[in-house]
Amino acid sequence: MRTLVVDHPLVAHKLTTLRDAASDTATFRSLTAELVALLAYEATREMRVQPVSVTTPVAVASGVKLARPVPLVVPVLRAGIGMLEGMTQLLPMADVGFVGMVRDEESLVASTYADRLPTDLTGREAFVLDPMLATGGTLATVISMLAGRGAAAITAICLLAAPEGIRHLEATFPGDGPPTVRVVTASVDERLNDKGYIVPGLGDAGDRLFGKI
Ligand code: URA
Repeated sequence: MRTLVVDHPLVAHKLTTLRDAASDTATFRSLTAELVALLAYEATREMRVQPVSVTTPVAVASGVKLARPVPLVVPVLRAGIGMLEGMTQLLPMADVGFVGMVRDEESLVASTYADRLPTDLTGREAFVLDPMLATGGTLATVISMLAGRGAAAITAICLLAAPEGIRHLEATFPGDGPPTVRVVTASVDERLNDKGYIVPGLGDAGDRLFGKI
């Protein structure tokens, strides 16, 4: 498992405003979309392409197109839905599957309540959207589901990560694969607190995107 922390002034600027408890829902939503698009730019750097040629008004030019089959984007319900807009701005051709995970507030153990993924992902690239990599339990489950269906490369895009979650994923997915597993994030923060929140973090990402339910 590899981790990429995107080091860029725009990413740091947007993340700082996201962290601010004074940022309202509208600001939080639009900044999430912008930040995800920047993270996705880095996360898609190794995507497979195939050579093509096109005719410009002047001559024939060689170029590339994204290889088939198209990638699969998997927002983890509910907070991952807030990241979908930013991701599909960059990958409008992608298929989208959904996984619903809920975390028990006492045990912090995540369980699956929805699985809307293709059954066969042989050779495909998948991008999992989950804003907060906390204990790593949710992402380990979703990545295992995708790997079990044959995905060749799985990249989790997270706004923030805790060192505990990174260590959990490294232990669960050691080595270089297959499948290759990567985490792309704007920051690895200090730690988790005793309620499972990332410190300093940004609070409950789902509540900040969609309100408390
Ligand atoms: N999920 C969140 O929304 N926030 C955290 O800090 C940890 C998990």
